[in-house]
Amino acid sequence: MRMAIEILQLLVQSADSWLFEGNRSGLSDREWMALRFLARANRFSRTPTALASFLSTNRSAASQIVAVLQNKGLVVRKPSAEDKRSIALCVTGEGETLLERDPINALRDQIVALEVPDRSQLRDTLRRVLIGLDVAERRYHPGVCSQCMFLVESGEGKDHHFKCRLFRKSIDQKEMTLLCTYFEGRSGKG
Ligand code: SF4
Repeated sequence: MRMAIEILQLLVQSADSWLFEGNRSGLSDREWMALRFLARANRFSRTPTALASFLSTNRSAASQIVAVLQNKGLVVRKPSAEDKRSIALCVTGEGETLLERDPINALRDQIVALEVPDRSQLRDTLRRVLIGLDVAERRYHPGVCSQCMFLVESGEGKDHHFKCRLFRKSIDQKEMTLLCTYFEGRSGKG
């Protein structure tokens, strides 16, 4: 138990880089969270609804955050390529540039500096902890296609491709690592 408490304290301390009062480089921690998510979200999740789900808030609060990002020229609304009645929230070049000053990058750089086996172990351990929390609290975290129960693989050679059974769309290689709020883990939620 003592070690668990020590680990909890370390996690709380590490959260200082993304949970803070006021603004850093002009954005609040929630605005940074939204910008970061939109830059990493796949085409099905760059929507106000998916953003609200990611931030665990309602659409009205998510819309206010999007309005701030739009006013700063960091995000634009475009008609969705998936559904013409919907809009897609796209990070602009300015948004991408600002992300280079994302406060969470300090933590990212420390993780990058770890040895590869330590980094893999940290990733797998944190993933297991989050899956346990998701199951216990009946909540859903976004995930990536490569770990999702809806991803199917078919064909061989030049015909080899991946498809999402939920959206009935092809998924190309570069989309595999983008975040999706519709993700469901292969062994249940998480
Ligand atoms: S396979 Fe899963 S993670 Fe990928 S787009 Fe479909 S629902 Fe989202």
